[in-house]
Amino acid sequence: MSEQRSGTGTALGQRHVVIVGAGMAGVQTAVALREQGFAGPVTLIGAEPHRPYDRPPLSKAVLLGKADGSAFDVDFAALGVTLELGREVTGVRPGDHELDTAAGPVRYDVLVVATGAEPVRLPGTDADPAVHLLRTLDDAARLRPVLAEQRDVVVVGAGWIGAEFATAAREAGCRVTVVEAAGRPLAGALPAEIAAPMAAWYADAGAELRTHARVRSVEPGSVVLDDGTQLPAGAVVIGIGARPATAWLAGSGIDLGGHGEVLADAGLRTSRADVYAVGDCSSFPSGRYAERLLVHHWDNALQGPRTVAANIIGETPAVYDPVPYFWSEQFGRFVQYAGHHRAADTTVWRGDPAGAAWSVCWLRAGALVGVLAVGRPRDLAQGRKLIEAGTALDPERLADPARPLKSALA
Ligand SMILES: Cc1cc2nc3c(=O)[nH]c(=O)nc-3n(C[C@H](O)[C@H](O)[C@H](O)COP(=O)(O)OP(=O)(O)OC[C@H]3O[C@@H](n4cnc5c(N)ncnc54)[C@H](O)[C@@H]3O)c2cc1C
Repeated sequence: MSEQRSGTGTALGQRHVVIVGAGMAGVQTAVALREQGFAGPVTLIGAEPHRPYDRPPLSKAVLLGKADGSAFDVDFAALGVTLELGREVTGVRPGDHELDTAAGPVRYDVLVVATGAEPVRLPGTDADPAVHLLRTLDDAARLRPVLAEQRDVVVVGAGWIGAEFATAAREAGCRVTVVEAAGRPLAGALPAEIAAPMAAWYADAGAELRTHARVRSVEPGSVVLDDGTQLPAGAVVIGIGARPATAWLAGSGIDLGGHGEVLADAGLRTSRADVYAVGDCSSFPSGRYAERLLVHHWDNALQGPRTVAANIIGETPAVYDPVPYFWSEQFGRFVQYAGHHRAADTTVWRGDPAGAAWSVCWLRAGALVGVLAVGRPRDLAQGRKLIEAGTALDPERLADPARPLKSALA
């Protein structure tokens, strides 16, 4: 490692890297720093009291009691990473290179903001013990008895979390009603014609999906909709989206975007020197898709930290320009998505969306830019590589689900 000096006058290898947020992105930043040879002090500060854990199992095995937890298999002591858990960071003064916490200030040479996202709440329901969110291990622990006691559940929001929670609740034997303000599930994520077939999955699993339905109020034992319908509810689960957890950055001079996310550059640096941001809390300019992306998925929190670590170490400057990827397990189906379809000009279906396995490919100027695969992991794996390579495909051959996706090269 070179003996350059950082802006704070500390030898590069000795700089103290402080990571705020001990979720996937924070933990992976610490791991990546060590993997890439950073030998200086690393401190990982997390507001939650639990050992850092992975979130996807919370809406799956942990919720159903098939797993007690999902702690990361990382030996922080062996890595020489100092963990400060149960400690919330309340502010940052980049000019002083200092963080504020209730237990006193913390100095850093390099700061990594990895505070993730927080679920959007339903106004007026914060104090209601029957109303639940699903973001943390504690949330999942509070929801386990709801499933174990097979209470009637109303889920507000038919997005990824709502669908996964409804799946688990049905598996546990609960009566489940999902209330969605839009006309279809996943309205914010997928085009209407792609998401429309997914509405049938709810009914297949014995869950009732009510679209164009808005919650007027949550009463003891029930949810009242705008049209006066009263739905029995032993528990209510809110799944109406998440917002970057960045309130603590107010007044710091670190630039935030319209969703409250940290505006990072292509190297995941923020507007203030020596401050990086990664994971659910930040957006980055995608060269590949020529727009700024705010990605709230696990793979982004895995890949981004490698770029952050490389740029902190600084020997080989790195640019973050991934093909985004995520998966969801819902209603007995494995749903995967790679790429970004917003600017696509052509949509090609592979297979019958009423069936168990199908996929959709999006092309732009002939090149594959996005793929959604339902029960077709090979389509996803091949598609992901072709998207990375910017390969042009022949739409006619692509439409034949009996042929491997990669055989549709134009
Ligand atoms: C229930 C659930 C299921 C999911 N399933 C999938 C899935 O199937 N597939 C998929 O691709 N993605 C899934 N995701 C999304 C994925 O888990 C997230 O994208 C990922 O966790 C983001 O990691 P992160 O580290 O950026 O943020 P987080 O995981 O949110 O971690 C941020 C951490 O920072 C802490 N923090 C926040 N503010 C402060 C502060 N001021 N001081 C100190 N600490 C702070 C928080 O307490 C939190 O522990 C799921 C998410 C949830 C909630």
